[in-house]
Amino acid sequence: MSEYRQDPLSRRWVIIGSDRASRPNEFIEYPVRRQPLPCPFCIGHENETPPDVARYSNGSPDRWLVRVVPNKFPALTPEESVCNQCEPLANGRGGTSRTAGSIPGFGCHEVIIESPRHVASFAELSAVEAELVFRAYRDRILTLKGEGQYRYVQVFKNVGAGAGASLEHVHSQLVGLPGVPEVVAQELESCRDHFAQVGTPLVADLLGQELAAGERIVATTANFVALCPYASRFPYETWILPRRAEPSYETAEPGEFGELARLMQDVIGRIERAAGGAPYNCVLHTQPFDTSADDHYHWHIEIIPRLTKVAGFEWGTGCFINPFHPEMAAEHLRSSPAAG
Ligand SMILES: [Zn+2]
Ligand SMILES: [Zn+2]
Repeated sequence: MSEYRQDPLSRRWVIIGSDRASRPNEFIEYPVRRQPLPCPFCIGHENETPPDVARYSNGSPDRWLVRVVPNKFPALTPEESVCNQCEPLANGRGGTSRTAGSIPGFGCHEVIIESPRHVASFAELSAVEAELVFRAYRDRILTLKGEGQYRYVQVFKNVGAGAGASLEHVHSQLVGLPGVPEVVAQELESCRDHFAQVGTPLVADLLGQELAAGERIVATTANFVALCPYASRFPYETWILPRRAEPSYETAEPGEFGELARLMQDVIGRIERAAGGAPYNCVLHTQPFDTSADDHYHWHIEIIPRLTKVAGFEWGTGCFINPFHPEMAAEHLRSSPAAG
């Protein structure tokens, strides 16, 4: 029998478990991922992208390991200084009585090219490349924060055409926004409400319960935990969270980025094995720039394999149907360690 579950952070409802399939990867077909070279993200093709805004190497400046470039086809542009018109989005949760709103498409859209080599998966990066990716996220968020026109930076990753990727070469993206996205505003509100009612931080409480129960834990390190959330929207959905209650990603201990990168590579390797190469998205949720530490937010990464399709029921209700119990997903992922 299926079951309704609510995610305490997003307050989203899901319907978990049904007899629709014994294995979740019966749901979707994946195209073969390799696309023909040449690729604009490969080393030697730097003139096919806009000039980089940041570049990382391992001592030798000619051979970059990670580059950050403006998106050639941006969703938003940073040209107009019109942030004072951005109030509807800046309110986060609406708060306007207008029936429809429009503000200029101010923002910035960047691509983080994660390796000079043509590899498709974060799990295939060298340890140095993987760590530099997390440092690049931190540096770009801090830079955009310093520019003063943004309230939030959304870092995300689309892997596979079915998850929205247009290029296979391993990369992630970030978008600087003049307002706080609805999803993050809801998470903040949940954290604020929980602390007001209970006097303890919501995510710290959740982590304590999850670690004690153990059934949804995928992997742990000294400072991070990977788990399948109680109200997972998709089979093998996995979140990575710092054990310490840290609201902002960009102020995390720089010494921990290597550890985070290793865990991310491990978890993505496990998901790729268990989910048979399904496309997936990753999102980084962090505290908006002008939010008070009293909100007790807790940054985290959500990895969302696209094994089931978002269809009419989900569009109509906002409630996801996940046929695969997260407890079973976590068990599969625990027993499916990445190679090497
Ligand atoms: Zn390439
Ligand atoms: Zn989140």
